[in-house]
Amino acid sequence: MNVIFFACMMLCGVVGWGIICIKIYLIVKLYYLIGGNFIYISVRLDFMDKYVLRCHDCGHEFQDPRNFGFECPENCNALIKTRYLSGIKFRENGVWGYIDWLPVESKNDYSHGTVFFRSESLADELGLKNLYYAFHGYFPDLGAHLETCTFKEIEVVVSLRYARECGVRGISVASVGNTANAFLRYGDLEELKIFLFVPSNVFDCVFTVRDIPENVVVVEVKGSYDDAREMAMKFSELTPYVYDGGGKNFARRDALATVIYGFYHKFRKTPDHYFQAVGSGTGAIAVYEGWERLRSVGEFRPPKIHVSQNEPFTPISDAWVRGERKVNPPGFDPLDVIYAKVLANRNPLYEISGGLYDALSKTGGKGYGVSNSEIRYALRFFRKTEGIDIYPAAGVAVYSLFRAIEEGNVESDSTILLNITGAGYSELKRELGIERVKPHYVVDGDLEGLVREFG
Ligand SMILES: [Zn+2]
Repeated sequence: MNVIFFACMMLCGVVGWGIICIKIYLIVKLYYLIGGNFIYISVRLDFMDKYVLRCHDCGHEFQDPRNFGFECPENCNALIKTRYLSGIKFRENGVWGYIDWLPVESKNDYSHGTVFFRSESLADELGLKNLYYAFHGYFPDLGAHLETCTFKEIEVVVSLRYARECGVRGISVASVGNTANAFLRYGDLEELKIFLFVPSNVFDCVFTVRDIPENVVVVEVKGSYDDAREMAMKFSELTPYVYDGGGKNFARRDALATVIYGFYHKFRKTPDHYFQAVGSGTGAIAVYEGWERLRSVGEFRPPKIHVSQNEPFTPISDAWVRGERKVNPPGFDPLDVIYAKVLANRNPLYEISGGLYDALSKTGGKGYGVSNSEIRYALRFFRKTEGIDIYPAAGVAVYSLFRAIEEGNVESDSTILLNITGAGYSELKRELGIERVKPHYVVDGDLEGLVREFG
């Protein structure tokens, strides 16, 4: 048995509400190496943290227990939100430039983030004067270096850091592709085990530009995304590894809130309208939450949130158009029929307290359904005008902007922020090459073998 013991004390000042608060914390970590098993114990005392957690439903505020849990202690069906106790000092570009409003103590080696620029060509075609992109993808000429091509890597990197600081041994997560790609590319930024559950019919979307990190286990699930999600959750119940939490994970949401901080940082204004295609709705909720934080340091109007989905699978936009808080997803498996497969989420964060319904209600938002052929049209149109290939989900958002103009939902001089959630696959393929990924395991409803091996 090998025992390593170390203790750490830090003292730093936190300025909040004009009062200087002293923050002291003691971290004791014990590592035991027993028969090849690594056991991690973390004891931590916080007297004052940089943020507190707040249940959106009951309003209960509490210190983060740092157990990588995302539920209210009163068991409310609600999102838990961070409330930062001090303002934000904008630093360098990239997600860690906004670390003041991220629930972590320190950053890791990731250095990228959202790139912002103003559209000229598409804006001219559409008669818009102030169209901006929150651009996520691989396009070095534009300063965009996301080697998984989508914004998922930004939330994954922050969530990994948070998980590591929480002292968890590992996490299990379900993905329809982009999140899995992000863990495959950046999983070894932190020392913890990662189990990816990916449904078979999107497995050909899984890729990497490098060898799979040793701490990442890829599991192909014969079934739908719901099956993969259920398996990831079940696996976490039967093993020492925790479930990633999806959009309930405030580290993920706060990472995506950097989209609006970054826009404000660069252009010194907040948008009148924000457009994004949604599956779970996490990104759109995060932008609204980010705006709420920015509001606390200035006077801004909330951006109207415009969300879009791929017809015929449009549970969120349908519920919103019906004026209902409850989604009613159709019975078929959306992965069989929709082009933008990353939007195939039957359990979005819509009705939950503090979720998308609330964000749309508070901003007078809109919902749109976009067909497969309309997506293809948007992809061609975007390539022709901006010279960039974008992902189908981003095409959904682009087409929803066309629709919003037709319906008179935006003015020609409105400041519009369009989230291009994925782009640059051809560039990435050409410059870095991509590798298709073979699963380590294939499961068909039975987790017994996996649990026996890793439990
Ligand atoms: Zn609560």
